[in-house]
Amino acid sequence: MHTHVIIDLLITGSHHCLRSPWPIPQWQLIGDPTMYESYWQKKGDETTVVIPGWQFMSYFSDATRLCWFLEPEFAEQIVRLHNVVGNAVTENRHIVVGTGSTQLFQAALYALSPCAEAEPISVVSAAPYYSSYPLITDCLKSRLYKWAGDARSFSKNGPYIELVTSPNNPDGFARRSVVNGSEGILIHDLAYYWPQYTPISSPANYDLMLFTVSKSTGHAGMRIGWALVKDEDVARKMTKYIEINTIGVSKDSQVRAAKVLKVISDNSEGPNEGDSFFEFSYRVMAKRWKQLREAVQQSGLFSVSDFPPQLCMFLNRVFEPQPAFAWIKCEGDIDNCESFLRGKKILTRGGKHFGVSPKYVRISMLDRDKNYETFVRRLSTIRS
Ligand code: PMP
Repeated sequence: MHTHVIIDLLITGSHHCLRSPWPIPQWQLIGDPTMYESYWQKKGDETTVVIPGWQFMSYFSDATRLCWFLEPEFAEQIVRLHNVVGNAVTENRHIVVGTGSTQLFQAALYALSPCAEAEPISVVSAAPYYSSYPLITDCLKSRLYKWAGDARSFSKNGPYIELVTSPNNPDGFARRSVVNGSEGILIHDLAYYWPQYTPISSPANYDLMLFTVSKSTGHAGMRIGWALVKDEDVARKMTKYIEINTIGVSKDSQVRAAKVLKVISDNSEGPNEGDSFFEFSYRVMAKRWKQLREAVQQSGLFSVSDFPPQLCMFLNRVFEPQPAFAWIKCEGDIDNCESFLRGKKILTRGGKHFGVSPKYVRISMLDRDKNYETFVRRLSTIRS
């Protein structure tokens, strides 16, 4: 038994060739959004779904749709929620559902890679980037695509795929594409473009946008994500990939996701707006960021970024982004922030996983209250 605060979820790494820096087996850390449990507990049966044994037995949802395994009710609630929140354009878009946006990311790589090229297409993202991108991209050593690292130092001629995560995981900043090539294809990962994390300034209007319930509603265990895709051919190829990969996506999960999105939209528009999901989660994030900044100040050993405030068109207020992760820098002569904090019983994920210096670490802001409180308390008392 150890008494470390596990502030990121630990799951076993998948690559048999990876060497772990941990005394225990290999670990990969992703932010587990358990913070949201308390809200959904309070909502009681509002989002309870009962599925009779004979329902959703078919592979098919709607054979007339491009994405034939997409549940119509879920598609309807996706469009509705984006319209209520104003965070993405849904007109003239195809919706492709995936087993988490992780599957959709892979479907997008498959769909966007040119099939006639001799060499795999380069996949890049500006550092610090989401640490799963290189792992997923190179996992099967595909001949279609290949991880090519930090987009800021990418200068190869020819086609490439650039991943733009906005707000970014791990550092929380709003982003635009950075490579200046003419043959770039963009994937916008908008997992965190929701009002609890960042002001919604305008509806995102890109060719290929990825969303997930994991970070929007907190239901990571449903494994549901969706892509909004402008180009019909790309949407068809993504659908084909999911067909080959898992013959569609769990209908039980889609129906449950539809219900959760519906309750969020109803509450956001209804008379009890103060009790709405986004108000609740905005308040929790605001409180946690205040606590974090106080702890950082008390300790004096760390720094976190400031973010420019902006008007949120949905919440109708000006606020500073309050990201799902804290991207903390160890100041002074602490070179390995991850091992330093491990010594103080705080488990984090170090900068090198995100393509930058080990002076940085990422910490999830979405853990349960009790763990979060323990974490800020421990952080605030660390002295050199
Ligand atoms: N994209 C980003 C930027 C993420 O941070 C995450 C979750 N950590 C994902 C995608 C994965 O989402 P999902 O659970 O839908 O696979």
